Amino acid sequence: MDAQKGKIGVTAENIFPIIKKFLYSEQEIFLRELVSNAVDATQKAKTLARTGELEGELGDLTIRVSIDKENKTITISDSGIGMDAEEVDKYINQIAFTGANDFLDKYKDKIDAIIGHFGLGFYSAFMVAEKVELVTKSYKKDSKAVRWICDGSPEFSLEDAEKETRGTDVILHVGEDDKEFLEDSRIQGLLDRYCRFLPIPIGFGKEKEYKDGKQLETEKDIIINDTEPIWKKKPTELKDEDYKEFYKKLYPQSFEDPLFHIHLNVDFPFNLTGILYFPKIRTNLEVQKNKINLYSNQVFVTDSVENIVPEFLTLLHGVLDSPDIPLNVSRSYLQSDSNVRKISSHITKKVADKLAEIFKNQRDEFEKKWDDLKLFIEYGMLSDDKFFEKAKGFFLYKNVDAKCFSVEEYEKLIKENQTDKDGKVIYLYATNKIEQFKFIEDAKDRGYDVVMFDGPFDIPFINMFETKLENSRFARVDSDTIDNLIRKDDKKEISIPKEDQDDLTLAYETAAPESVGTYFVQFSELGEKELPVVITQSEYMRRMKDIGLMGGPEVSLYNNLPDNYNLVINATHPLTKQVIEGKKTDLGKNLEELRGKVSKVNVELDALKELTKDKKEEEISQEEKDKKEDLEKERSGYEDEIRKIVKEWAVTNNLVKQVIDLALLAKNLLKGEALMNFVRRSVDFIEK
Ligand code: ADP
Repeated sequence: MDAQKGKIGVTAENIFPIIKKFLYSEQEIFLRELVSNAVDATQKAKTLARTGELEGELGDLTIRVSIDKENKTITISDSGIGMDAEEVDKYINQIAFTGANDFLDKYKDKIDAIIGHFGLGFYSAFMVAEKVELVTKSYKKDSKAVRWICDGSPEFSLEDAEKETRGTDVILHVGEDDKEFLEDSRIQGLLDRYCRFLPIPIGFGKEKEYKDGKQLETEKDIIINDTEPIWKKKPTELKDEDYKEFYKKLYPQSFEDPLFHIHLNVDFPFNLTGILYFPKIRTNLEVQKNKINLYSNQVFVTDSVENIVPEFLTLLHGVLDSPDIPLNVSRSYLQSDSNVRKISSHITKKVADKLAEIFKNQRDEFEKKWDDLKLFIEYGMLSDDKFFEKAKGFFLYKNVDAKCFSVEEYEKLIKENQTDKDGKVIYLYATNKIEQFKFIEDAKDRGYDVVMFDGPFDIPFINMFETKLENSRFARVDSDTIDNLIRKDDKKEISIPKEDQDDLTLAYETAAPESVGTYFVQFSELGEKELPVVITQSEYMRRMKDIGLMGGPEVSLYNNLPDNYNLVINATHPLTKQVIEGKKTDLGKNLEELRGKVSKVNVELDALKELTKDKKEEEISQEEKDKKEDLEKERSGYEDEIRKIVKEWAVTNNLVKQVIDLALLAKNLLKGEALMNFVRRSVDFIEK
C-alpha cells in the first residue's frame, strides 16, 4: 500500500484539548481503556478460533504492558484479532472520532454537569501521549501489518509496517507533562486498580531469578491479574473459605472476617454478578463506606457506588459486575436509569432475603452477629421503606439480659403486662445499664422487660418505629417513675394538703443544686419502699437533646436547652411527712399568721367583687378601683413574705437537701461541688 496521509473526519479542530480538559481528573483511565481494547480483541480472537474463522494457533494470548524510559514510551501489546488498513480507517479514524464528536454534541450545553465516568476508548491515549502509534496486523489471511501515527491533531499517517505476529501494539509517546506515567510504580498502581480481574492474562515486567549471585530477568511474565475472579464462578463450586480469602484479597488491610456474604448472579432482565459482604459495623460509618468496587465485564469502573445502590448498602463491601450500568453518563442521570433502578432494588431485595434466610435457618448465628448487624439494619430500615418492610421480620430487640426477640415475639412477651390503662403498649428501654440501674431494677420488680437501645441509630430508629407501631410507645426506664410510665390505674389523690404542697414545691426547688439543671416539682404517691424523692427526665425533652447530640442543623438549638428534670416528691414516704412536720415546727406560727392575713384580704376582695359584679367597667368608681388595687398589693406582699420565709428555711434544711441529693445520686447526676456538699452533709448526719 502507498503511504497515506489524511485528515481525520472531525470538524472540531480542537477536539483533543477539549477532551483532555474534560477528562483531566480521569486522566489515568487511559490505561484501562487501552488494556480493555486489547482484552476485547483477544477475546474476539478466541471466539473466532472456536468457530474456525481464525486459522492456525492462537498462541500465547498474554497482553503485555511495558515501559521504555529511554524512548519515553508505554506500549500495550496484544495478540488479538488486529486490524488491516481498512479497519484502522474505519474504527480508528472514523468511528472513534465520530464517537468523540457525538459526545461533544450531546453534552455541549452541560459541559460542567459532566462528572463521572465515560470512556472515550482508544482516544483516551491522548490523555498522556503527545503522539500515538499503532502497529497492527489482522488475523485475516495474507493481511499486511500497518502503522498508524497521530500526534493529537486531526492529522494522521497510515503506512505499511513490519510485524510478524497477529495483534496490535499501541505505543504511547508520553508527553513531558505526563512523564509520571513512565514510572513502573505508577503503572503498577493503575494496573492493580483497573485491570486486576480482567479475563486475559496481563503481563507487566518479568520474573527475576538469582543466578551466580546476580538477579537476572527471566522470560517469564509477571501476571498482574486474576483472570477468573470468584464472583464469575458458580456458588456451588465455592467454599466459605474461598469467599473469605477473596475478601482478604480485596481488603488486605482489614483484620476481621466479614459476617456473611451474598453471591449475586442474575441474567435477566439485566446482567449482574458479584459478591457482597457484610462487614462488622459498630461505629464510624464513613470509614466503612465506598468499599464496593463496581466492574463492567471485569473491568474496574469505580469504587463509589452511591446512586447505583441505595445509600445504606454502600456500607457493604465487595464487588458488583454489570455491563448494564451505563457508565458514560453523569451521576445524577444514573439514578433515573431504569436498569440501575432495577439493579438497585434487586440488590436490596437480595440483601433482605439473605438476612431473612439466616434469621430463619440459623437463628443462633444471627443473634450472635446481631450487634454487628444492627447498625446496618437500622440504617436500612430508616432509609428504605421496602427494606423496612422486610427487615421488620428479622429485626431483633435485645433486652438488658442480652436475650433476643423478634418484633413479633417481643410484642407477645410484653403485651399483657406492659399495657397501660389506656390500652397502649409501653416498650421500656435503657441506654445505659449502669447509669439507669435503679430504674431497670424497678421495672424488673414489676415483671416488666427492658430493651437495650445504646447504638448510634437507636434514637432515630425509635422515633421512626414508634410511628409504625400501632398503639405503642417507647419510654426510657428513667423518664418517669415506673408507675407513671405504665399507668395501670388513675392517679391516686395526693394525701398532702394544698398549702403544704405549695410550700414543699418552693422549698425543694430552692434546695435542689442549680448546677445540675432546672427542676419541675411534682407529687406522687409512690409507696414507702420507693425513695422519698425521684428524679426523672421526660422522654420528650431527652429525645430532643439526643437529636442535638447526634449533630445536624438543629443541633445548637437543642444543645442550648437546659437540662430539665422532674423532681417527684414521694407523698407516701415518711421522710416527706417528716419534712412537713419540720416545716410546721419551724415556720408554723409565722406561716399561719401570714396565711390568715391572705385569707382576710381575700374575703375583702371577694366582697368587693360581689359589689361590682353587675357593673360595667365605666360604672366602677375610682375609689373602688383603688381599693381593689391596694388589696391586691397587700396580698402579694404577704405572699412574697411567705415565699421568702419558705425559701430561707429551705436553704438551711439539710433533710430536704439530703433527700434530693439522694435522688440525684441514684440517677448518677451528682457531680463536683454538689457531690462534695452531699458527702459533707452525710458525714454530719452520721455524727448526729
Ligand atoms: P470501543 O472500544 O468502545 O469500540 P474504541 O475507541 O476504544 O471504542 O475503539 C474503536 C475500535 O477500534 C474498537 O471497536 C475496535 O474495533 C478497534 N480497536 C481498538 N483497539 C484495538 C485493538 N487493540 N485490537 C483490535 N482492534 C482494536
